[in-house]
Amino acid sequence: MTAVEARAVLADVFGYHSFRGDQEAIVQQVIGGGDAVVLMPTGGGKSLCYQLPALVREGTGVVLSPLVALMHDQVAALRLAGVRAAAINSTMSVEDRAATERAYLAGELDLLYLAPERLAAPGTIELLRKGRIALFAIDEAHCVSQWGHDFRPDYLRLGALAAEWPDVPRIALTATATPATHREITERLHLEQARHFVSSFDRPNIRYRIEPKGQVRQQLVRFIRDEHAGDAGIVYALSRKRVEQAAAWLREAGIDAVAYHAGMPAAERLSAQTRFLQEEGVVVVATIAFGMGIDKPNVRFVAHIDLPKSVEGYYQETGRAGRDGEPAQAWMAYGLADVVQQRQFIEGSDGDAAAKRNQLAHLQHMLALCETTQCRRRFLLNYFGEGSSRPAAAAQQIAASPPEGVGGCANCDVCLDPPKLWDATTPAQKMLSTILRTGKERGRTFAAGQHIDVLRGTDSERVRQLRLNELSTWGIGDDLSVQQWRGLVRHLLATGLLESQGEWGVLVPTEAAKPVLRGEQQVMMREEVATRSGATRSSAKKNAAADLSDEQQQLFETLREWRLDEARTQGVPPYVVFGDVTLRALAVHRPTTPERLLEITGIGQAKLERYGDAVLALIVS
Ligand code: ADP
Ligand code: ZN
Repeated sequence: MTAVEARAVLADVFGYHSFRGDQEAIVQQVIGGGDAVVLMPTGGGKSLCYQLPALVREGTGVVLSPLVALMHDQVAALRLAGVRAAAINSTMSVEDRAATERAYLAGELDLLYLAPERLAAPGTIELLRKGRIALFAIDEAHCVSQWGHDFRPDYLRLGALAAEWPDVPRIALTATATPATHREITERLHLEQARHFVSSFDRPNIRYRIEPKGQVRQQLVRFIRDEHAGDAGIVYALSRKRVEQAAAWLREAGIDAVAYHAGMPAAERLSAQTRFLQEEGVVVVATIAFGMGIDKPNVRFVAHIDLPKSVEGYYQETGRAGRDGEPAQAWMAYGLADVVQQRQFIEGSDGDAAAKRNQLAHLQHMLALCETTQCRRRFLLNYFGEGSSRPAAAAQQIAASPPEGVGGCANCDVCLDPPKLWDATTPAQKMLSTILRTGKERGRTFAAGQHIDVLRGTDSERVRQLRLNELSTWGIGDDLSVQQWRGLVRHLLATGLLESQGEWGVLVPTEAAKPVLRGEQQVMMREEVATRSGATRSSAKKNAAADLSDEQQQLFETLREWRLDEARTQGVPPYVVFGDVTLRALAVHRPTTPERLLEITGIGQAKLERYGDAVLALIVS
């Protein structure tokens, strides 16, 4: 198999004109009969790495994938591309199953999808033995890791494939990046002879933005309405109540939003998920329970209205945006209340001391990401062990404006609109000494609100009762607004100068605060201008159709409507018919002949035959 031949299959079947990243090397390795371990971020293009070799090698590619719900869409998408694909699962009828088995035995299947637990079912191994297998693909291979976040015991069985079929190449794929998981996959699946392909986990098309929380309802509505009108997106919140509430906010603002959380009846949950997958422009407001196994490629934004518990979680959730490689945004609003609430949550949890320390460390990393004045992307990649020297060339192509800071990514809020820093040392000293004085002189500990009242000299019954107005720090901080003080407290908590304790979130200075009080250490924090995000907004991508001229936009919409009809008729999600990338290319290039259509990404021979006439008719009309 030459490189030229592999490229021909790539164009004819998938309609793509070049491989991405490691794809070509991986495909060659597997076609040549070798094993492979592939670590590639979400949206990197993992499926092609086994689908293409399965088409080229003799026999059927057997794909082990835990997400039964996804198999249907994957198989449907492959069939539309002219690939002979099928799945065996517990929900199918006896007749369908028998037909699929016959097709496999007759060598009429290019790809066969199975859930790992299928292998244990009586007869499955015997069936596989009687046919010819081109390769085994083990998707979501991190599920074999016992220490990982998604262990599935059935995966352990997959280690036996090596001995049973020593001559069949095996390829294991995952988007989980840690070295420990990588090692476990290699060992447990007996991939000692495999070549390893580890891609960068950067997601250059995702724009990271984190802003201070004010009126979160307005912020969220504005973000979606101004920048993502008509786009599909996910909004993550921490509790069921918050989910319901935020979904209602959005609906009141005229945004097509549905709630999704574990407390809803299964039928309602399914209907929310189905709407999100099958329709255009639906926003799901969800707890973290939503997302595993959702591989909708055109999710244009992921928003967090509550602080995630860890950087790992944040990266996994934001990673669901922009799988198709088109511009997407990860947006988050966070504030003082988030920090206090998370600490209370951890303290109140029933884990042991070590577990709590672990959770606090995770929270602290998350806060560091929020407060950083460095490039967010660089922070994230460093966190996951990728060096900071790596050039972010791809991101620079996508971003409209040049990078500001040295080594910046040009596609995060910090790089696009570098925060102005201000010297908050004096206000920090005022806050810290107010806390210490109320403790010493009144024998009381307070949460942030009371301290801010003291500093701003706000009069109240409680103040008079405790004679707080007699403290020497009374009213010395009326030059800052409540919002600014809250921002400062949040910053002091995030940087570990303050701790919040107990049910009421009382504030206590830590050892680390001493040098600040003695004037030996500065506190520099980002200036929080309410309108700050406006600057990033103007250059932010609005939606999939942004950047198109009016005329192109019109054609894009026409094609989108046609796609939705087509998808409904076939009972598949719209992206299975054509991705947004393809529709955009069609709107821009307006091909008018079948030959020109083939030049559009995502259109191969089978789709040309099936849809070519309809698409050409829409373009020339
Ligand atoms: P992953 O499984 O790694 O998350 P997918 O296999 O779902 O990624 O691919 C992500 C998206 O990229 C899909 O929309 C797919 O069609 C597209 N894609 C994959 N490989 C290529 C390529 N070589 N050229 C263009 N698009 C590609
Ligand atoms: Zn950046």
